[in-house]
Amino acid sequence: MNRVHPADFYAPNRSSHLRHPKQPRIPITPTLSELTGPIYPYPGFLPEDADLTKQHAGEPIGERIVLHGRVVDEHGRPVPQTLVEIWQANAAGRYAHGVDNHDAPLDPNFSGTGRAITDAEGRYRFITIMPGRYPFQNHYNAWRPAHIHFSLFGANFLTRFATQMFFPGDPLQALDPIYQSVPEHARDRVVARFDIDETKPEWALAFQFDLVLRGPRVTPFEP
Ligand code: FE
Repeated sequence: MNRVHPADFYAPNRSSHLRHPKQPRIPITPTLSELTGPIYPYPGFLPEDADLTKQHAGEPIGERIVLHGRVVDEHGRPVPQTLVEIWQANAAGRYAHGVDNHDAPLDPNFSGTGRAITDAEGRYRFITIMPGRYPFQNHYNAWRPAHIHFSLFGANFLTRFATQMFFPGDPLQALDPIYQSVPEHARDRVVARFDIDETKPEWALAFQFDLVLRGPRVTPFEP
């Protein structure tokens, strides 16, 4: 069968050199707390958790977008009650994170993190802004294509899934070792679809990104 997920080690991706186990994995028997939790929604969930433009006093700078999709299994059946978390750079390509020292402005109105729970149809929906591209140290003149990080937690803590979502038509994808580490036949699965039907006139473009948890159309894991 064709490989879908990136290999642990992909030479052009410098961070893959150290970020994977070099010893055989050791199975650890899960305990009750790992098998029975977490349970969603937490009481602390707020509507603005899924609207990254409403988390501060003002609106963030940037191109507002609707980002929606479904989480499904290998048969296309919805996976409800799944925690979908996203994180991303601001419109200038800067993360609101202490170790990001890219010379681009922070936006006091944008934290770049959001979370949502899938509904009975497996759907999630975020309002956010278009992330900017940013340089990284991988090689000379290396720039990341626009992307949003995704993490999913299902019925228990052992069902985590993480990936990166890209936007259609970004010329940096051809040069990005993280995007390129996804086997070619599966790369379209990590690219969102521009969605004119969900695009809101006079307000925001929409993108659709469906996540398939296993099977022949499985979404590639984060490299
Ligand atoms: Fe990133």
